[in-house]
Amino acid sequence: MDQPGIILIVDDEPLGRETLEALLKPQGYHLLFATNGADALVQASIQPPDLVLLDIMMPGMDGFTVCRRLRADPLLAEVPVLLITALDDRDSRLRGIEAGADDFISKPFDRAELRMRVRTIVRLNRYRRLLDERTQRQQAEAEVVRRNQDLILLQEATQLKNQFVSNVSHELRTPLSIMMMHIGNLDMLYEQMEDAKRRSLIHTIREQTRLLHELITNVLDISYLDSGMRSIENHTLNLAALLREEAERQMPLAERKSQHFKVLGLDQVFVHANEGQMRQVLCNLLNNAIKYTPDGGTITAECRIYQPAMSVDPGWPGSTELDQGSWAAFCISDNGMGMPREVLERIFERFYRAGTQGAILGTGLGLSIVQEIVTLHQGQIAVASTLGEGSRFAVYLPLLNEEHTQ
Ligand code: ADP
Repeated sequence: MDQPGIILIVDDEPLGRETLEALLKPQGYHLLFATNGADALVQASIQPPDLVLLDIMMPGMDGFTVCRRLRADPLLAEVPVLLITALDDRDSRLRGIEAGADDFISKPFDRAELRMRVRTIVRLNRYRRLLDERTQRQQAEAEVVRRNQDLILLQEATQLKNQFVSNVSHELRTPLSIMMMHIGNLDMLYEQMEDAKRRSLIHTIREQTRLLHELITNVLDISYLDSGMRSIENHTLNLAALLREEAERQMPLAERKSQHFKVLGLDQVFVHANEGQMRQVLCNLLNNAIKYTPDGGTITAECRIYQPAMSVDPGWPGSTELDQGSWAAFCISDNGMGMPREVLERIFERFYRAGTQGAILGTGLGLSIVQEIVTLHQGQIAVASTLGEGSRFAVYLPLLNEEHTQ
């Protein structure tokens, strides 16, 4: 701020330039001189001054034109311009304002006034420049921080992706090597094997093929969800009806295990959602309930509406922490093997399997897909479970207003 400032004096007459020089030099300013308009523009663009003192009457380009050209140059548009006019030259002042001049000084100069005005303008201009520079510096710093953050996010995403790919290849290899081993045994030792042994090998190969198929389907689902192709088609859906349909589809599995399968609750609960993805959520949760519940167990699926004024049901996990709003909800409960508390925090992680499932096959991807789809639909999912007693999974989706369901 202590730097005196640069002033460009533009006047074709030597006397005019000398007068201003005599007045301003002692103040410590760095003075530049131009004897015509074109020269003034060149000098200003080489070294933008803190102030231009501009005579109006010049041969060739007059002061008004110089002023307009300065204003039109983005680098110089903000430089203050004082036009030198004759006293009471009202017409020139009006034209000067039109041309973009900031102020006027009249000849003959009042020394004290001229010095004071020049000092104020130069100071203000320096101050404004400092502010501009600081803002630009801050913006540049903020940009660097933002880019660094982007880079970190990108590195994290790459790391996750690599981890995912390595998990996938590991998980694909397991069923494949079991299948290869059993098929090899069948091929080499078919004649020596008893029927029961052959049957058992074929059964395992079939199971592992199913697992492989499930794994590939899940991986494709995940990469679709990860790809950010979120412009999925959403429609008005009756969630309660979908729940009943999916339960119906899974019924044979439950029957095979002599399980009691009940569907309760409302018949009509509407949401705005992607049908395929909603079916996938229901299918994965119902399938897990059947899979992780022993023969003869009970599975219950129920559909409800949760509204702000309604008292929540503590039996529905997550219902006490629900955000304000109206929710279309369903809960799938089983009295199966359940999970210990420490496992619950991790079951939505990709490839995580609780370890309590024993020999039951799975990919560890089903619940992570469920959670991603629910989140994609601005919903929430919660689980409560007790080892040896059973599990309850509840999903809450934004309820579609009645008028939207007409
Ligand atoms: P998968 O069933 O293919 O292993 P999921 O992501 O669907 O993968 O489930 C992750 C883990 O959570 C399962 O391996 C199982 O240990 C546990 N789990 C899921 N649902 C239940 C349930 N209803 N009862 C008990 N454990 C469950």
